[in-house]
Amino acid sequence: MSTIINVKGLAKSFGSLEAVRGVDFDVEQGSLFAFLGPNGAGKSTTIDMLTTQLKPDAGEATVAGYRLGRDNDGIRSAIGIVFQDSLLDPLLTVEENLLVRGSFYKLSRSELKAAVARAVETAGAGDFLKRPYGKLSGGQRRRADIARALIHTPQVLFLDEPTTGLDPQTRQNVWTTIRRLQKERGMTIFLTTHYMEEAAQADRIVVMDHGKVLAEGTPYELKERYATDMLKLKPHDAEELAAYLQARSASYTVASGIFHIPVAETVRALDIIDGCRSNIAGLEIVSGTMDDVFLHLTGTEVRA
Ligand code: ADP
Ligand code: MG
Repeated sequence: MSTIINVKGLAKSFGSLEAVRGVDFDVEQGSLFAFLGPNGAGKSTTIDMLTTQLKPDAGEATVAGYRLGRDNDGIRSAIGIVFQDSLLDPLLTVEENLLVRGSFYKLSRSELKAAVARAVETAGAGDFLKRPYGKLSGGQRRRADIARALIHTPQVLFLDEPTTGLDPQTRQNVWTTIRRLQKERGMTIFLTTHYMEEAAQADRIVVMDHGKVLAEGTPYELKERYATDMLKLKPHDAEELAAYLQARSASYTVASGIFHIPVAETVRALDIIDGCRSNIAGLEIVSGTMDDVFLHLTGTEVRA
């Protein structure tokens, strides 16, 4: 795997507000990369810098082999962007919107038609091509926005909160489209989200808050590091289990006869189970979630 985005010490302030305070990270080519953080974390500001819309105060970045600030045209040719707020004209049909957008790319008439058709196919926007953009549902709009970003077949697709504000079913559909782009087209996807369960599906996550990177890793690594798994045991003899756990200095709580024993890693539960197997009437291991990771890192629930 090679690195397609490399970021070092990127920073941006708005007046006295340090929106992004020196962030470093890499994105692997062909991966699905998620920037996770609450509102105001600095996600959009970082994306705006990487997509050449905002000039960094400090730091450097390379996108698809082009140096930010030195070859911004190169970067723009290699990326597609789906913004938080759409740029399409509500009065034009989806197809008209895409043809207008495509005309920026200096293609011949037949190339333009082919490029739009390919983008529509990839984004799954074929069913509502002839309808005005302003009349579409939220999920249809997102797919039209994605089609717009794909006309010039970019290597990297940036999506800033692509599913925010959509209902769960529609979020799932948009998410399926995004995954397909990555899996079938090998496109690198860089998205921001404040939905934990979405970030958990990424290949790699950077958790950001207050303009800084708090942690990064695969969802599995982050959960192993920052979330606690819970072993739940229903004993035949509660006193015996309590004595056993106390002898091991294992912390636990009891609720309705069920012992809740936090374990640092899932496999640690096996040690405990092995030593009291004959006293176990029932058991469950509940894995830590991305919510736990976030809580641990920021000390707060997600500020939605
Ligand atoms: P996120 O996308 O993670 O919600 P943003 O990058 O949009 O966060 O914002 C980071 C911080 O910078 C916030 O405190 C926001 O209010 C501030 N900010 C963003 N854009 C501007 C701007 N153009 N002018 C002033 N402050 C801004
Ligand atoms: Mg944002």
